[in-house]
Amino acid sequence: MTDSFSTDAVLLRRIEYGDYDLIVTYFTRSMGRISVIAKNAKKSVRRFAGALDPFIAMNIECSLPKRKGSLPVLNSVDIENPFANIRTSTAKTGYASYWIEIINSWMDDGKPDVAIYDLIFHVLESLNSGKIPVEVLSVIFQIRFMGISGFTPNLMGCGQCGKSLDEIRQHKVIFDLAAGRLICDRCSGVNNFPKNGCEINEIVLKYALPEQTSLSLNCLNNVSSRGISVSKGTLKQLSWMSNTDIRCAERLKFSRTAVKEGEHLLEGFIPCHIGRSMKSLNFLHQIRKADLAI
Ligand SMILES: [Zn+2]
Repeated sequence: MTDSFSTDAVLLRRIEYGDYDLIVTYFTRSMGRISVIAKNAKKSVRRFAGALDPFIAMNIECSLPKRKGSLPVLNSVDIENPFANIRTSTAKTGYASYWIEIINSWMDDGKPDVAIYDLIFHVLESLNSGKIPVEVLSVIFQIRFMGISGFTPNLMGCGQCGKSLDEIRQHKVIFDLAAGRLICDRCSGVNNFPKNGCEINEIVLKYALPEQTSLSLNCLNNVSSRGISVSKGTLKQLSWMSNTDIRCAERLKFSRTAVKEGEHLLEGFIPCHIGRSMKSLNFLHQIRKADLAI
């Protein structure tokens, strides 16, 4: 039986452990999320020489733990792509941190998901190259992440009456963040919904399915108390981004409104669905406020 393993990995985070060591969490291609101990990494700068920075993609080689309950020991790293341009830009760092936090929050330890691995590698590569506008890339990452993970909400019709997007007559439709579905004007009762959004407390109680109630309340407590008004055109573009080849999606020109509305919807819904607020998202919002976008 072999007592070591190697795998491709993207670094998610690292924390100090004692005076000398670091505990490093990776999202790996063949083993899902894992944490390993990097001995002497803190004490000796040469030990892993700049290879333990966030977002770096590398091949790692580790020894299996000798005792049950201990972490594998990181022996060596071979950098595949340092993605160095990400760390020199505040805006790029903000977006990459948010994507990495989604992965770290949602993926289980030891459960591989090659499609998610390939997705995060691809978007980090595109972010690093700077060829695709970062906001577009973020929308593409989020909608595809949800698709692969199996929690894409139905964006093509009312979640209450089933009316399709084309049959809904109004230009904008309310997306109920907590329940994770669209609500047409007729189902919502037009008078209850201000044009640019709505207080969601009542909607949640009215429309949430029993199994969604705890999530809804979690969402209400932690993240947001509003529904979001989204153009039908944006909803169609999001569905398209989710299903088409990723390289085609990156090449298409999206309207500014679609990107802004898409960001607003996805950055509201994903923390709701994951069930916690995200520090990196607050950071990203601060960056946008300070107008540091690329
Ligand atoms: Zn309806």
